[in-house]
Amino acid sequence: MVHKGVNMTTVKRYNRSLILKALSHGVLSRKDIAKKVNLTPASVSILVAKMIEENLIIEAGTSKQKVRVGRKKSMLDLNANYKYIIGITIETHTISFALSNLKQELITYYVQKIDDKDIASILKVIQQAYESLCFENRIHHRQLLGIGIGIVGQVDSIRGISLDAYGLWSHPVHLKKELEALLNLPIVIENNVRALALVEMTHHSDTDALTFIKYGPGIGAAFVHNHTVYTGSKYNSLELGHTIVDPRGKRCKCGQQGCLETVASYTSILDTCCQENILDRESDTLLNDLVNHYKADHPRVKTIIDEAIKYFAIALINLLKILDTKDVILYGDFFKEDLFFNILIDQINSLRSEHQFVPSISNISDDRDIGAIYIAYQKLFLETGGLPALKQPNGGELWKPHNLRNNHQH
Ligand SMILES: [Zn+2]
Repeated sequence: MVHKGVNMTTVKRYNRSLILKALSHGVLSRKDIAKKVNLTPASVSILVAKMIEENLIIEAGTSKQKVRVGRKKSMLDLNANYKYIIGITIETHTISFALSNLKQELITYYVQKIDDKDIASILKVIQQAYESLCFENRIHHRQLLGIGIGIVGQVDSIRGISLDAYGLWSHPVHLKKELEALLNLPIVIENNVRALALVEMTHHSDTDALTFIKYGPGIGAAFVHNHTVYTGSKYNSLELGHTIVDPRGKRCKCGQQGCLETVASYTSILDTCCQENILDRESDTLLNDLVNHYKADHPRVKTIIDEAIKYFAIALINLLKILDTKDVILYGDFFKEDLFFNILIDQINSLRSEHQFVPSISNISDDRDIGAIYIAYQKLFLETGGLPALKQPNGGELWKPHNLRNNHQH
């Protein structure tokens, strides 16, 4: 049954999207795809033939597992070279740029400091980076799928607006509209932590809900349920770093006083250590320097770090009391250091009366732009079925797969 107002082209788009999503987890035969996406093998064959012709999908040899005597399964894969993706992450002091193939394998990556924080200068930096990425890697504009942008602060990802990028601007900036006009490419934007949480979710196919926490340089979190990130009514959900822990504490970059970030973030640890001349801000090995000082029993470093981790442990426990998810994933280099991770676990266990709770360390790539690349791949490839995105007059959501959930025709 096709819903009123949903034409066959839209259904085809949806079914192509199902096939691409199935293949995004690895190679499959046509028969495997049909079973996975609940379409007839004949429908899958027709759709796949078209997508092979369009270069979205490639034949990937035969499976060792024989279907019947003498016949091997012919396998299909996404074409990594179909299009390139640019990922950009805008943080308070830096912008990072990456170029990847369709399978999100990085070709190049670099970070640049933000010298001028006004929006016009930042748009100029992005335009120059786009031009040099294309020129240096000999990529033509038409070979690009689009650009994904992960940015700190409140983001309305549906309309593509950065509402408040703490420390950069505190008014709405129509990043998607501005950049699409400037570069003539589809742009997808999302809060940087939520973008990373979506990547994390792809590694947990067995769970339907997880809490993702990014530690460093600030503290951010995201709650993913049924493969959708909860944003809240004002795109402010789980701004863990900006929960108040000391009303008489330091002024935070968000405007409040005594946020968790001011007492427990990696930046707050570094700021205190640099102000007290314990660390040199110019050092390239700040995290290592901290580990070494701690191991050498530097009294101030021990106090500063223990205090920060204690506040972070309290915030984690409180968050878990509210969300109660089975999976809690911690992302960031700081807690990849066993020394600091073990202090965190000790703090959690000394504060909690219930059974032991140990967050997992994220296994996703350290490259900051992996989230930005992923949202472009998801919105401009997986969800569109590899077809050009449908523009809505209000600049809103391109199309809504949930309207079509029960339509499985091709
Ligand atoms: Zn704050």
